[in-house]
Amino acid sequence: MATYKIATIPGDGIGPDIIREACGVMDAIGKKYGHNFEYTEVLAGGAAIDKTGEPLPEETLKTCCASDAVLLGAVGGPKWDNLPGNKRPEKALLGLRGGMKVYANLRPAVMFKQLSAACPLKPEIAGNGLDILIVRELTGGIYFGERGRKEDNSEAWDTERYSVPEIERILKLGFESAMKRRKKMCVVDKANILESSRLWREVTARMAPNYPEVEVSYMYVDNAAMQLVRNPGQFDVIATSNMFGDILSDEASQITGSIGMLASASLGDDGPGLYEPIHGSAPDIAGQDKANPLATILSCAMLLRYSFNLDKEALAIENAVEKVLDAGWRTGDIAGKDYPADKIVGTKKMGALVIEALQ
Ligand code: NAD
Repeated sequence: MATYKIATIPGDGIGPDIIREACGVMDAIGKKYGHNFEYTEVLAGGAAIDKTGEPLPEETLKTCCASDAVLLGAVGGPKWDNLPGNKRPEKALLGLRGGMKVYANLRPAVMFKQLSAACPLKPEIAGNGLDILIVRELTGGIYFGERGRKEDNSEAWDTERYSVPEIERILKLGFESAMKRRKKMCVVDKANILESSRLWREVTARMAPNYPEVEVSYMYVDNAAMQLVRNPGQFDVIATSNMFGDILSDEASQITGSIGMLASASLGDDGPGLYEPIHGSAPDIAGQDKANPLATILSCAMLLRYSFNLDKEALAIENAVEKVLDAGWRTGDIAGKDYPADKIVGTKKMGALVIEALQ
């Protein structure tokens, strides 16, 4: 029986609630398909600050880097909001990404047909569903480029800078993901103005012949922001730089209408991937059995697919989630107004329903 080492970081707020359910689903998958998932729970965020004074203790990073994959709940909360920037819980996220050398963020924006009422777009626009994968560069570009200010504070600058290898590794993930999906990749940039964007296009054009089945297109970021709300169904994979990806992935997740459903993966070359729901620690509902665990459970599906190459098992989780939604079960956040009360369930029951649907 294969054994996989998973570091879990429950973190703060609803983090422990959703990680518990996600591990339950993983165990059910292990039992059904003959894998052994071995968890090591580590501290990060506010929970780590309370115990050690640091948002990301050295031991946590060491354990994460030595694992086969890392599953994170969420960090942060009002208790730690007044700490200085480098001592805040969210600092753990940057430390983890940097320390684990993950450079690409994969964010699916999926609108489940059962939840289409929550989509803020008109039915004639989003009626055919929504299934976009945004592949965002995570460790370069303007967020990490040279920056500065004139001494008299009369000017400040930030620099967008990309090397060919940095672009190539993102596009490779974009092309490979497109091959597993609907075989379309749109590179989003600002090539009418930015030199770095023109380099992204040149690299794309050089790599495209290696993926003849993938239909490549290019779009300026201002147009992409507009097209996401006008005709989101046209997109399959979007590959883009750090800042454009940051903005567009939030926009794309908002149009699905359900942040409690959206998963994400951050990947590097050989090391473990980092998997987490896109939502935060939801302190307003922490510990009340109200959190939707499905985004974390779907993050486990990504973990199985991208870190362990277990496609069948990943699909089994995704199908189980669909089955539970088809049967009408909802947590409060995805129930909508006037939803029948007897079909609204808590965190634990939702986890149990997914496990039942896996059988
Ligand atoms: P949030 O995502 O935690 O919550 C926004 C709203 O969505 C809240 O009303 C919350 O109850 C609801 N919500 C979120 N996830 C839910 C779920 N799974 N089920 C049901 N409802 C859910 O965002 P916020 O309120 O802006 O931030 C709260 C804290 O989380 C802050 O400290 C913030 O810094 C932190 N945060 C952490 C991460 C992370 O760990 N990756 C990401 C974003 C925010």
